[in-house]
Amino acid sequence: MSIRMVPVNEVKINRRIGISETLEVMADILRNNGVERPVIVNEDNIVIGNHELYWALRRLGVKLVPVSDREITTYISLEYMGFYDDISPEPYRVFMSTLELLYRNWPTPLVLLNSLSHNGLRVWAKLEGFNPFSGSIKDRVGWYMFIKAVEEGRTLESNKLIYEATSTNTGMALAAMAAIHGFKARLYIPSSIQKLSDTLLRVMGAEAVRVSKSLTVEFVDRVEADAKRDRAIHLNQFENDYNFEVHLRYTAKEIDLQLRSIKVRPTAIIGGIGTSGHMSAITFYFKNRFRGKIGIYCVQPAPDNIIPGIRRIESGMKWIHWVKPDKLVDVERREAIRESINIARSEGILVGLSSGAVVAGFKKLVEEGLVDEGDYVLVFPDHGFKYVEQFDEYLSKGGSRS
Ligand code: PLP
Repeated sequence: MSIRMVPVNEVKINRRIGISETLEVMADILRNNGVERPVIVNEDNIVIGNHELYWALRRLGVKLVPVSDREITTYISLEYMGFYDDISPEPYRVFMSTLELLYRNWPTPLVLLNSLSHNGLRVWAKLEGFNPFSGSIKDRVGWYMFIKAVEEGRTLESNKLIYEATSTNTGMALAAMAAIHGFKARLYIPSSIQKLSDTLLRVMGAEAVRVSKSLTVEFVDRVEADAKRDRAIHLNQFENDYNFEVHLRYTAKEIDLQLRSIKVRPTAIIGGIGTSGHMSAITFYFKNRFRGKIGIYCVQPAPDNIIPGIRRIESGMKWIHWVKPDKLVDVERREAIRESINIARSEGILVGLSSGAVVAGFKKLVEEGLVDEGDYVLVFPDHGFKYVEQFDEYLSKGGSRS
């Protein structure tokens, strides 16, 4: 038997391999834009060799897996394996469910920020606020972690309850999953987050529990214990590898496709880190795709500053420690709010505080002389509607454009 291309779901496997064990293989596939050997299967299409390769391809979201009953060397490109087929937007924007409205509406927009671009410098924003449930990048994570839990039978063993620690966005995404699938969500929110979040979550049918800690990561253990006690599913965005995987399969791939469509090669990508899911996946994807010839910068709150959704790297993050960005930039809370307001006043779009932090970080890179000509992609994680309280406080203290 020579090489055959088989739909990924028709290849059966009885050995599961963790994401960290397949990172090297995934990196290789991305660097080479393809594979040089097939997955070895028996006559029933059950994988009996190259298990890591199978899992790496599956995690990268290929549609067709090359299989054979023996090792053969031949080059098969990512395109040929349907690598980009996951991104299939609905051209006339008619959707058969609100879930379809999420994943058949991708890619989220990539827009040129004319106010920050000039001469040879072009600054692009990836607008994750266009996701329907939370108005944020976390719709991807909530959806993917939930459907994978269903696929793996985890939801069957539960009392149809979802518990999660969240700074709002993952909570809204999971509240949506719960509403759509007949579950009940209980969301634990840190004290530092705007009051509006409780109302938003309750409107979406979830229970909002305030915890007297300022960072979500500080009470994940408590959520785990409560979930065990009540037979709830705790998807745990901080540890769940589907958080990293969804950004590899979709977010990073979208940026790649969008830039390719306009024949642009990115000079650098800049984003904030919370769980580190999206920036870790983007770093991994683009560092390999461009063999290191791209800058990746991450922003974090300056010491003792709270910026909802992002935190300092020393607070510990699973995936960012695998992939190492080129530089971390500290941003103060007031700088983040100021830059969100500046974007609203110059571009007319309302974005969240972590997006403002990304703009502030970008401006610091410009000041440090690290930004020259080229195409820079800024990842804006959410819409600004959630932050009215912070905007109000900032403006009432006399803060304005600068
Ligand atoms: N910005 C906002 C507003 C967020 O809600 C989050 C995560 O909760 C992030 C940034 C960070 O994203 P990630 O968890 O992928 O690092």
